[in-house]
Amino acid sequence: MPDLRFDGRVAVVTGAGRGLGREYALLLASRGAKVVVNDPGGALTGEGSDDGPAHDVVREITEAGGEAVASTASVATADGGREIVETAVKHYGRIDVLVHNAGIVRPASLKEMTYEDFDAVLDVHLRGAFHVVRPAFPLMCDAGYGRIVLTSSIGGLYGNHRVANYGMAKAGIIGLSNVVALEGAAEGVRCNVIVPGALTRMAEGIDTSAYPPMGADLVAPVVGWLAHETCSITGELLVSIAGRVARAFVGETPGVYLPSWTVEDVAGNLAAIRDAAEPWVLPVVPSAHIDHIRTSFAMAAQG
Ligand code: NAD
Repeated sequence: MPDLRFDGRVAVVTGAGRGLGREYALLLASRGAKVVVNDPGGALTGEGSDDGPAHDVVREITEAGGEAVASTASVATADGGREIVETAVKHYGRIDVLVHNAGIVRPASLKEMTYEDFDAVLDVHLRGAFHVVRPAFPLMCDAGYGRIVLTSSIGGLYGNHRVANYGMAKAGIIGLSNVVALEGAAEGVRCNVIVPGALTRMAEGIDTSAYPPMGADLVAPVVGWLAHETCSITGELLVSIAGRVARAFVGETPGVYLPSWTVEDVAGNLAAIRDAAEPWVLPVVPSAHIDHIRTSFAMAAQG
């Protein structure tokens, strides 16, 4: 297979000053993309700022012969999101790829989580996704081309302890991706979600001595493909952790059809309702969901 390159493409990567985002930015730039390296450079909790990380990554890219520009705006506000996207347009005249990767963590048990910690995490991950997708999406639609990659997490898919804010934000991102995939389908815009795992500063304080190799470099090629024009999927979730790449999906059991239901019917049919042996893996198109239900009605009617 020929190298999948990004010559002529302009990519915005949020949170690209460190960790996974840095790796994505380096990969895209090494394959010809002009990259907006966005990062205000704050602490893991989102406090403070430092222009260093974004500028360091830009320097790394340019010293390797690539093209990049820094943006130190915060994705946590609408103005910041607009500024990040405008940096791409101002410097390079277009935006082809948007990777929303920026993240902070403020763990606390549900009994103790403050609204301040709740809002701060939602502002960066979830509202942050809207703050960059909202200005980028119309530009991509006008150009008839776009690739958007949003970032979820195992905590968003399955939950975890002490991450009510993070888990909610990371699950909500999947909702946005589904809508972008639907509204972008006829416009040449595809949107997918990466569910990454890597030993970055987010693993600070966790004993990772027994973990397998989990470099951010193992995740970057997956984001690279999702960001490439040959990416053939939209509205999907790809997991990339420690060298394993897999698809996660929302499924339904085939279910049980009855023309009317009682509470006792639910109890009596529970095993069949929950039987996940042959799940429906639904495409994002809601009409397909309705088609599945029609089929189930028809099968029930035939006995
Ligand atoms: P990281 O802390 O190394 O990098 C995150 C970057 O985002 C930092 O450089 C930070 O300055 C930047 N950032 C924070 N607030 C920002 C803001 N308001 N605007 C723009 N940039 C901002 O963490 P990472 O592990 O590389 O995480 C990257 C993404 O991957 C996050 O969304 C995270 O939730 C997600 N994720 C990571 C893991 C993992 O195992 N590392 C697992 C699941 C999901």
